[in-house]
Amino acid sequence: MKVLVFIEQRDGKVKSSAYEALTVGARLAGSPADAAAVLVGADVASLASQMAGYGVDKVYTVSGAEFALYNAMGYSAAVEAAIKDFSPQVVVGVASPMGRDFFPRLAARMDAALLTDVIAVEWKDGALHGTKPMYSGKCRAHLVSQNCNLHMVTIRPNVMPAQKSASGAATASALPVAGASALMNTMKTLEIRKGKSEKADLTDAKLIISGGRAMANADNFKILHECADVIGATVGASRAAVDSGYATHDMQVGQTGKTVNPNLYIACGISGSIQHMAGMRTSKVIVAVNTDKDAPIFTIANYGIVGDLFKVVPVLTKKLNELVGH
Ligand SMILES: Cc1cc2nc3c(=O)[nH]c(=O)nc-3n(C[C@H](O)[C@H](O)[C@H](O)COP(=O)(O)OP(=O)(O)OC[C@H]3O[C@@H](n4cnc5c(N)ncnc54)[C@H](O)[C@@H]3O)c2cc1C
Repeated sequence: MKVLVFIEQRDGKVKSSAYEALTVGARLAGSPADAAAVLVGADVASLASQMAGYGVDKVYTVSGAEFALYNAMGYSAAVEAAIKDFSPQVVVGVASPMGRDFFPRLAARMDAALLTDVIAVEWKDGALHGTKPMYSGKCRAHLVSQNCNLHMVTIRPNVMPAQKSASGAATASALPVAGASALMNTMKTLEIRKGKSEKADLTDAKLIISGGRAMANADNFKILHECADVIGATVGASRAAVDSGYATHDMQVGQTGKTVNPNLYIACGISGSIQHMAGMRTSKVIVAVNTDKDAPIFTIANYGIVGDLFKVVPVLTKKLNELVGH
């Protein structure tokens, strides 16, 4: 079966979750000759070699100044061109903000079925099967994409690990895209303003320490930043902390914030509402610090500390400092 994988890059850096999508795509295809990837950006030809060993023989590169800033119109036209050239049965992407934005448009343009934000995917009996958490993670839906010529799927980041297979030449193949500029005139991206943080974005972060309403003010978040700096973690927040003005919206984890899947999630002064847990319950290891021993967060925590975060976090920072040898 032929599978095409969309590789997300920003500013010339391939997102780590793109390798997870590649791994899924290579597995579904079964052979590097049947798997291809597509990269879109200002000048992406040199990035293709980074896909070597991930089970794809061919990497379409769509380069041009008009693709420098992400634009749903242009990016879907570029991936459409790769679909027309490669004729895959399945297209794989990531349920990142970018994937969530343009895959529905692409699926509609190509008359394809689309499974979104899945945590497991397989090809069985001529159909694409996906598992998707729903209702804030309270249940899992089994979705089947069938009876169509083209199937699309976006995978949840940080769930299905990337694996190098040592096969796949990842030869770059420049792909011209006719009409993308005209399409992009209908909706232009004028500017993308980045957050100030140099840390990994929450959705990519392997380590996260988050604060809730109990942080009490924005200044107090500095104890979380100090701890995060020691281990290279990213700082997140509950909606209560964001709504109270203690943290910015891009830090919000949960149903109306970001969905995260780090190796370690430390929740400080967060009660564990269903809406917060919807965004972090699939974290590999969860540590909760809360003064209330009955706080719901403890029901999903692997390690719980009943205590005042203002006492616990500085001790944690000190111990981590000793461990990493600063
Ligand atoms: C439609 C909808 C969408 C929502 N989306 C989101 C979302 O995306 N993300 C999200 O987070 N919420 C979301 N919410 C809000 C959610 O329902 C909760 O109100 C919110 O998560 C509570 O945040 P919190 O845990 O920080 O605050 P609280 O629930 O007030 O909990 C604070 C916790 O801190 C503990 N505490 C107090 N002092 C200390 C201390 N010194 N040390 C340690 N612990 C202490 C308390 O025991 C308590 O458990 C949503 C709500 C709705 C209705």
